[in-house]
Amino acid sequence: MIKLRACRSCKNVTEQLKCEKCGGDTVLEWKGYLFVLDPNRSLIGKRAGIATPGEYAIKVR
Ligand SMILES: [Zn+2]
Repeated sequence: MIKLRACRSCKNVTEQLKCEKCGGDTVLEWKGYLFVLDPNRSLIGKRAGIATPGEYAIKVR
């Protein structure tokens, strides 16, 4: 099973130790999976401050 990680700064979900979007550190402790197709139409995406489509974590510790 692949353990997914989430970026501390941009909440991007990835398998890498470093976020490929912003280069920040990723952690295993995160909750809530969020898939954003259109950030401008997604209310949750707007609230989370997501600007680009992709997979995100709702809460990152
Ligand atoms: Zn990031």
